[in-house]
Amino acid sequence: MNEPLIICENLVKIYRLNQEGGASVEVQALQGLDITVREGEMLGIVGASGSGKSTLLNVLGGLDRPTGGRALVGKQDLGRLSESDIDVYRRKTVGFVWQQGARNLIPYLTAAENIELPLTLSGQVGKSTRERALELLELVGLLDRKGHRLEELSGGEQQRVAIAIALANKPLLLLADEPTGELDTVTAQTIYDLLRDLNTRLGLTMVIVSHDPGIAKHVDRVVAVRDGKLASETVRVQKSDGAEHHVELSVLDAAGRVQLPREYLEQFNIKRRVVIETTVEGILIRKPEGDHHSGEHGISSSEQVETQEEAVQVTSRWSTLWQSVKSRFAKGEKQ
Ligand code: ADP
Ligand code: MG
Repeated sequence: MNEPLIICENLVKIYRLNQEGGASVEVQALQGLDITVREGEMLGIVGASGSGKSTLLNVLGGLDRPTGGRALVGKQDLGRLSESDIDVYRRKTVGFVWQQGARNLIPYLTAAENIELPLTLSGQVGKSTRERALELLELVGLLDRKGHRLEELSGGEQQRVAIAIALANKPLLLLADEPTGELDTVTAQTIYDLLRDLNTRLGLTMVIVSHDPGIAKHVDRVVAVRDGKLASETVRVQKSDGAEHHVELSVLDAAGRVQLPREYLEQFNIKRRVVIETTVEGILIRKPEGDHHSGEHGISSSEQVETQEEAVQVTSRWSTLWQSVKSRFAKGEKQ
């Protein structure tokens, strides 16, 4: 397995907003996020709007500084780099692709000219900018459109031009924030195919944010962010018959905490407290016996099973929970 390229440990990002009258409010966009991304990995990030996905990309891209915790890319600690070093990092190490890829492009210039322009501005030396632009167009499969003005290109083709520009500095890391957000499904597929192709050909590490839960089939691994933390990971598993399927695994944070899926809590009427036991097959989390009074306040009037009838109910609840734990475990074991 490849070495980690990105390591985030307990990453925190707090935005402070000054309000009228001098008061300020804090928004905790990242609340202690842990993640590792390996060299050459193609990682997808999903999560509800406002969960902190763009904030994470901005921190990884050196556009925003962490408030706490650590964000390492290669040997660089992004929270500790000087202003000028982070500027170099941003220009040399990362490439960005945005949802509206064409936003920064010029409609009346050709595809090739749109790529030449930033090359010229960044003082590219060596090869002529024209040569390099054509090389990049070739890389994104758009050489035959080199003379088309941007406004003559489709949305998907414009996004390819944007990707070509993101590759111009030969980045180690490509960050894409909803790159297919404005594209139809068929075009989105072609962009994912291109990203995968670049990942394979250039060994480029990629972090791709998407609103599309179907992203799992395009990337190596998907993580879900919830409230500024990593909640779960979906990995691809090869079954013995060669077929592939996806398994969603809950993620433990650095302190060993895990978030239980809400629907399981509801299914077993678990409120505030649980019993955690070890069994031969793993760890069992169950509702405390007789904890049927533990409502919002979570204080049980009795921890004991009082009647025969209740004992039967508890046993049957226990056995349903047990079955569910066993089946989840069996799934996990196939990896
Ligand atoms: P996502 O990309 O998952 O939709 P964001 O990372 O954009 O989420 O935002 C996470 C939270 O941080 C949101 O509550 C958002 O309003 C807030 N936020 C993001 N950027 C800023 C900013 N520059 N200033 C203040 N708050 C911000
Ligand atoms: Mg976003």
